[in-house]
Amino acid sequence: MPENSVCPFCEFEDQRAVIYVDEFCFAAISRKPINKYHVMVIPKVHHENFVDLSDELVAHIFVVAKKISLAVRKACDPAAVLHVSDDEVSKKGYNLVSHYKFHIIPRFEHDSVVVDYHREEDPGIEARAEFAERIKNEIN
Ligand SMILES: [Zn+2]
Repeated sequence: MPENSVCPFCEFEDQRAVIYVDEFCFAAISRKPINKYHVMVIPKVHHENFVDLSDELVAHIFVVAKKISLAVRKACDPAAVLHVSDDEVSKKGYNLVSHYKFHIIPRFEHDSVVVDYHREEDPGIEARAEFAERIKNEIN
């Protein structure tokens, strides 16, 4: 975060939209929702990317996200629930707020959400083995 700028998640104002708070994170209804009942689980400390979070915080966020996701299912009876987050690697505007958040987005039949799961052709085992090798070499 640049100095003198206020992060809307570090200074979260919409307290009536907050549905959960603990020592490390909170969850709130999105004010730029992808669908109704769209919840974000937000660490209290400012981090930009998933990979910036400590292992302990990653584990905690996921446990809280599971709890909230179960509550969302009960609250709005969705057809499916999408769980996503974007790491802003390119800095080209994928994230509206540069503070890490984990999205829980319920899906309903005939909603207007478009998630394009375009599938490439299988590149073949040689290419998949090469991709596997390149990633395996980067695992610490
Ligand atoms: Zn922040």
